Amino acid sequence: MQPVEAQKGVSTKSQLLDSLKVYLNNKSRLQPIIGLGSIIECVKAGTHNKEILFLCEVCVCQLNKADMRNHIMGSLHRYNYIKAWHPHLVSEWKEKSDLSKLAWPLMEMAKTLEEKEGPGDVQQ
Ligand SMILES: [Zn+2]
Repeated sequence: MQPVEAQKGVSTKSQLLDSLKVYLNNKSRLQPIIGLGSIIECVKAGTHNKEILFLCEVCVCQLNKADMRNHIMGSLHRYNYIKAWHPHLVSEWKEKSDLSKLAWPLMEMAKTLEEKEGPGDVQQ
């Protein structure tokens, strides 16, 4: 059996996707994952070691891998992603809504979106 990466001819694979893979494949997971297509994985070449950073386009933030993992499952990311790509879904909400109170509806929306369009692909 050929690994998927080899079939697609992709030499680099996303470290973030790699670390999320087990979770994404977990059938009993609670958290939906959306908006990976808004995440850009970039390598910052330092003098001694390479540092991998992740940028979230919709939230305009720059995080390391562990923080980005948490970020993707957070309400802020879901809200910004839905607002950017599916604005009609949140058009009734006020601009400065208290996201902690909207965590549940955001999770439900994210679930529906993930079923429809999948988690997305990390940009490299
Ligand atoms: Zn984000």
